[in-house]
Amino acid sequence: MTRYWCASAWLPEARVAPSVLIDTDGSPGQAVITGVTPGVPRPPDAVRLDGLVLPGFADVHSHAFHRVLRGRTHAGGGTFWTWREAMYAVAARLDPDSYRLLARAVFAEMVVSGITGVGEFHYLHHGRDGHPYPDPNAMGRSLVEAAVDTGIRLTLVDTCYLRGGLAADGTAVPLADVQHRFSDGDAQRWSRRVDQLAAQVSGQASVRVGAAIHSVRAVPPEQLATVAAWARERQVPLHVHLSEQPTENTATRAAYGVSPTALLARAGVLAPSTTVVHATHLDELDVATLGAAGVSVAMCPTTERDLADGIGPAGRLVRAGARLVLGSDSHAVIDLLEEARGVELDERLATGSRGSFAPGPLVTALTADGHRALGWPDAGRLAPGAPADLVAIRMDSVRTAGADPSQVVFAATAADVHTVVVGGRELARDGRHRVLGEVGPLLAQAVHELAGPADQPGAP
Ligand SMILES: [Zn+2]
Repeated sequence: MTRYWCASAWLPEARVAPSVLIDTDGSPGQAVITGVTPGVPRPPDAVRLDGLVLPGFADVHSHAFHRVLRGRTHAGGGTFWTWREAMYAVAARLDPDSYRLLARAVFAEMVVSGITGVGEFHYLHHGRDGHPYPDPNAMGRSLVEAAVDTGIRLTLVDTCYLRGGLAADGTAVPLADVQHRFSDGDAQRWSRRVDQLAAQVSGQASVRVGAAIHSVRAVPPEQLATVAAWARERQVPLHVHLSEQPTENTATRAAYGVSPTALLARAGVLAPSTTVVHATHLDELDVATLGAAGVSVAMCPTTERDLADGIGPAGRLVRAGARLVLGSDSHAVIDLLEEARGVELDERLATGSRGSFAPGPLVTALTADGHRALGWPDAGRLAPGAPADLVAIRMDSVRTAGADPSQVVFAATAADVHTVVVGGRELARDGRHRVLGEVGPLLAQAVHELAGPADQPGAP
């Protein structure tokens, strides 16, 4: 049983209260909050957390291996599609050992940045030759081991990926080279492998398995429903990339006569337990369809700007009934505070007005709603019954000094996170991981071993 005394804390209903005592109970890593009492002096036995304490952040959309490309793809021009070639070159080099070391460093970066739960959108399933490893979930288990090593909560969003894509005229493109690593052949075989994985990791309290459809490009329409039914029957989250690039829309219309959103709706994919990722290029009917289904929409503004994707209609989606959640996706940046304010700041650029998203809803997106989209509905709030996930932010740094704590999301960065607690276990203090130490050298070594000269995308 550990008690934390917070100089100030972010309580439900976006209420910032001073001098908050948080009582917890349970074994380290699995402790839950048992009491939240504002306005009390610090008891001598309580751990002191200065600044502002928020609930843990949820990074709803991650591809850990994309971290290799940070700061290495900007010398030339190109498009999303030429960047993807560089990303595939990294994907082709990974094996279970290098994947585990890289993911461990990336998850450690997340932890010191205040991220206590991550959704890893995982499609790098098989060997370099496309054949399954002796354990067909060897790559997924590397991610699980990496998460356990760092203490972060993991939802392994195991992704169905079956074909190379759609050409502009709508014809299906077969799997190319590295994409053979991604494919199980069909959705039935994908589901059998993921059932095995779920059984393999069922002993890990901090790990859950979810499902994903890579995109309507990578999964044919007749197999979308198989994945959706698998997720529905097991009551786990279902994620899907949606309309990140305009060419996905034109190719899908050419192939099927409808938008990607309409195709997903027709297959029964859209539901409150579904998260669509990006949702950048939508028409009015798409927005209404997603809102009526009550899906979560994972916006990833730092990736979307890095890849020249465009600005998604976040405000209209939320007004239509969707929930906003956030992801760092390609890890051009790992800073969920930046992702959160990025949604509102992009909205300002796109609409010419301020205030579509107030600080309160942005924090809800980055905490409670994010965890809900990852299948952890109790997490992401400072209230009895929630996991004891705490993120303490310095309010006296050069960035945050003078800021109104209720507007911290518009001032602080990940560098202002000074203490991170997951399930009552302190995992980060002053930028260091409490088990793994300095995270920079871990990242440098992992990236050094996987980076290559081919990472620079060429001109389109
Ligand atoms: Zn993605």
